[in-house]
Amino acid sequence: MRNKIVAGNWKMNCDLPMTQDLISKIKRELPGTLDCELMIAPSHPFLYAAFNGSLDTPIEVVAQNVSQHEKGAYTGEVSIDMLQSVGVKSVIIGHSERRDEFHETDHDLAAKTKAAIDKGMRVIFCCGEHLEQRQGGSHFTTVTAQIEKGLFHLSNKELKQVVLAYEPVWAIGTGETASPQQAQEMHAHLRSFIADKYGDKVAQQLSILYGGSVKPDNAVEIFAQPDVDGGLVGGASLDASSFIAIAKSF
Ligand code: PEP
Repeated sequence: MRNKIVAGNWKMNCDLPMTQDLISKIKRELPGTLDCELMIAPSHPFLYAAFNGSLDTPIEVVAQNVSQHEKGAYTGEVSIDMLQSVGVKSVIIGHSERRDEFHETDHDLAAKTKAAIDKGMRVIFCCGEHLEQRQGGSHFTTVTAQIEKGLFHLSNKELKQVVLAYEPVWAIGTGETASPQQAQEMHAHLRSFIADKYGDKVAQQLSILYGGSVKPDNAVEIFAQPDVDGGLVGGASLDASSFIAIAKSF
């Protein structure tokens, strides 16, 4: 049985009062039990407040990014030790906004992933194709190349600390969602690509999340796909009722 996960990526949207308010609202909306892990990714300055605000709840606070460097002269960067010192155990790496806006390369992402895993973190590793790549039919090769370059330096044991998030870039923040069939097709492809390298057992245990305009009204159908193990949610995670409705969609 794979872990089901719903993770909210708040991006650069919430200051401290908004972070605290959103966590309070999520806590109020939380049902007695959930069939998935629930994660939120606030901005770095508010991780500690978020961690404290989520104590004694099933909410895990995760980071949106981390440096691959251990410490030192890296102005503006945040290290793995720093994240861990405020209670963070998981980090999103390779979001398309990091790749596209901040020019993070496959090499950078491979280094970040390895550094985080070496320190015992769980990594939510994002991959996904642009619209022209899908229209040109290169979406499978694009995404598998991202996985190969970003993850295939990891051992079998290390890969167990990874959660994959397939996020077609054309569906992020656009309101356009991959169809459940498109999501399933890519997730199954990724699982078999992982199985070729790491074996079927590891591939079957790997949670693969879908991200791209997941909303309460499309989550049930997307999450019902056999290789979709949950969602990485942007816009809809900023509304507590929508976020919890998505988490209830299994
Ligand atoms: C994301 O940023 O990871 C994302 C999937 O955003 P949205 O849900 O808004 O498309």
